Amino acid sequence: MDLFEYQGKQYFARYGIPVSPGGIAQTVDEAVSAADAAGYPVVLKAQVQVGGRGKAGGIKLASNAAEVRHHAGNILGMDIRGHVVQRVWVERASDIKAEYYASFTLDRAARMHLAMVSKEGGIDIEHVAATNPDAIIRRHIDPAIGLTHADAVDIIHSAGIDEEARSGAVSILELLYKCYVEGDADLVEINPLILTPDGRVHALDAKVTLDDNASFRHPEWAAFDGTESSDPREQMARERGLQYVGLDGSVGIIANGAGLAMSTLDVVNQVGGTPANFLDIGGGASAAVMANALEVVNSDPNVKAIFINIFGGITRGEEVANGIVTALGRVTITSPIVVRLDGTNAVEGRAILKAHESDRLISRPTMVEAARAAVAFAAH
Ligand code: GDP
Ligand code: MN
Repeated sequence: MDLFEYQGKQYFARYGIPVSPGGIAQTVDEAVSAADAAGYPVVLKAQVQVGGRGKAGGIKLASNAAEVRHHAGNILGMDIRGHVVQRVWVERASDIKAEYYASFTLDRAARMHLAMVSKEGGIDIEHVAATNPDAIIRRHIDPAIGLTHADAVDIIHSAGIDEEARSGAVSILELLYKCYVEGDADLVEINPLILTPDGRVHALDAKVTLDDNASFRHPEWAAFDGTESSDPREQMARERGLQYVGLDGSVGIIANGAGLAMSTLDVVNQVGGTPANFLDIGGGASAAVMANALEVVNSDPNVKAIFINIFGGITRGEEVANGIVTALGRVTITSPIVVRLDGTNAVEGRAILKAHESDRLISRPTMVEAARAAVAFAAH
């Protein structure tokens, strides 16, 4: 789950990472109240989960209520690269002497955490990585040992962080690691981490991705729900308890098991198609689950064909086939459907599908054949 900047800052604050005082607003009046409370001058920041807000006009300084009114009016409702701004974060403006970068993320290949720090902050880290890779210090952190104070000092020194910012940066790096590990985040990023003219170091931006698998031990995360996704398909899938990730293609995918779902995306790509989504319906394939999945995939206007790829294990083929047929009786689907059914009692399942076959519902015995048929439908 990706947090908005203001949520990320609340999360940082809980771990003692210094952030600017501020408030969140959904209306111009609320923005003025938040600014009055934070103290002028303030900065207004569009809350969208996409970078480059500044360039798009989504970050503005205001030195009085009239300016807040003006900028909040412009920012609320603004479209930033396809994301409509529904909230604006208003915080006390900071004076900036230097901008740095700090993050922790999981390096799955190395099976370790990865710390990245740079004295070149405030710009896209990908840009720094491409143009000046030596300006980024990368250090793997063994999760069994953790980030020691000596590690933090070494990283901050190696990154060339200005002398007067060092002790502040070291302590923030240690807090950031604690918040990353104890908070069950997959990514915590501060860009920019700033040094102010009076020598304080603090987080001016916050990017946090929480590990959804840990949500059971974080009841407090409920406060973040419903605000995270700007993709209506993902919202709809979440409400139905489905594992769904929206993509840009035209072949809707429904599969059981994450591994099979991913292979399905690969095969669709291999035969020249483009997947519209990842969707894992899990172990069972009951009519109710199938109807839910079909409704979500069908709601995507880009979908031109649907590929249902089920490998029956504990769930038998005829149950799956009956589930599909019953689901199709419940929901009206606009795209043709191709089913590949294999595994336990596949023969019985295919016979049921055969009896219901039409130019809108066909069955293919192998994954590749089914993918080809779905891609051909999508191309029409
Ligand atoms: P992003 O570009 O979407 O990541 O937004 P950021 O929150 O990182 O802000 C982008 C840039 O706006 C920062 O690098 C700063 O240069 C500037 N900025 C943001 N907040 C302030 C502030 O309080 N004071 C000043 N002077 N500049 C700010
Ligand atoms: Mn930023």
